Amino acid sequence: MTIPKTQYGFVYTQANGLNLKEDIPVVEPGSDEVLLKIDAVGLCHSDLHVIYDGLAVGDNYVMGHEIAGTIVKTGSKVTLFKDNDRVAAVGPNPCGDCTTCRTGFENDCPHSAGKWFGLGVDGGYQQYLLVKRPRNLVKIPDNVDSADAAAITDAVLTPYHALKLAGVRPSSNVLFFGAGGLGVNAIQIAKAFGATVTVIDKKEKALDVAKSLGADAYYTKIPEDVEAGSFDVAIDLVGIQATFDECQKYVKPKGVIVPVGLGAARLSFDLGDLALREINILGSFWGTATDLKESFELASQGKVKPKVREAPLRELPEWIIKLKNGEYEGRVVFRP
Ligand code: NAD
Ligand code: ZN
Repeated sequence: MTIPKTQYGFVYTQANGLNLKEDIPVVEPGSDEVLLKIDAVGLCHSDLHVIYDGLAVGDNYVMGHEIAGTIVKTGSKVTLFKDNDRVAAVGPNPCGDCTTCRTGFENDCPHSAGKWFGLGVDGGYQQYLLVKRPRNLVKIPDNVDSADAAAITDAVLTPYHALKLAGVRPSSNVLFFGAGGLGVNAIQIAKAFGATVTVIDKKEKALDVAKSLGADAYYTKIPEDVEAGSFDVAIDLVGIQATFDECQKYVKPKGVIVPVGLGAARLSFDLGDLALREINILGSFWGTATDLKESFELASQGKVKPKVREAPLRELPEWIIKLKNGEYEGRVVFRP
């Protein structure tokens, strides 16, 4: 296949936001790099936090952090992959070599902080991506299509990692806030773990989806007959003070709260309640390559089916507005 010298894509700068650029160079891979043709790339609410809400992550890069593609040029020293392999990006883009990475927490790699794919360094809102560390790619199972694979790299991986961290098991009573791009998959993963699932979303249409995916209970607001301290685990996929307060109220003594959503820059907790009931608050960031492989396994086995719709990449700006206004459910994934 002929690889063009330039391509179109969407570049983010702190000064001017996200803008279409028609002449982005397609860079030749070096001997230990690969060139990826982007097959599908998902839009995440985190992009909106960067564009509109002052979440400071780097400057002057191609956005898009849910990436699935096909390798079109393999550097001569690369042994892990070959041309035509269908792969997905491990978003945190870890170095692989530091103590944090080698102890299995590569999603927290301090050397890659702020240099995540599409969040700090170039990502998938373009036609081709130079991957400098091919170790941060994972093969996509044959029976998982590329649009689903893109969503799996974050909208499945992130809740999967959070639910694993929280130790969710068949006896767990789990409360979710937010049944959007991440939430619709979080419900399916928690059900695959055998948990009982209650979902709160302010949007009725999101609750219809939650119901169709097997949520045991779903409300726009927690009803009065649900007692405080009823849940083992509360996963907050919104992350504002109001939802965090509800998580603290409704989690059991020794319960776990995972504030995954980045809706507020800061959250506060009621120390008296937190300390006296020994509640655990766990930070959770994206996921590791192993988590991503396991997420693909769940999808390959049909236990999780990401809810995605497809659109041309050039329509990205209008879908950003639709996501901001809550005008669709699940994930939109673009085919460049
Ligand atoms: P989304 O916009 O697709 O979904 C959010 C859902 O929450 C929507 O259905 C919306 O109706 C609902 N909602 C909003 N405010 C609510 C409220 N006050 N009460 C109840 N429901 C409410 O967003 P998404 O792409 O699923 O992302 C969710 C959050 O997770 C974002 O803040 C995103 O930045 C964050 N995120 C964090 C990580 C991480 O590693 N920690 C990774 C990915 C995304
Ligand atoms: Zn994301």
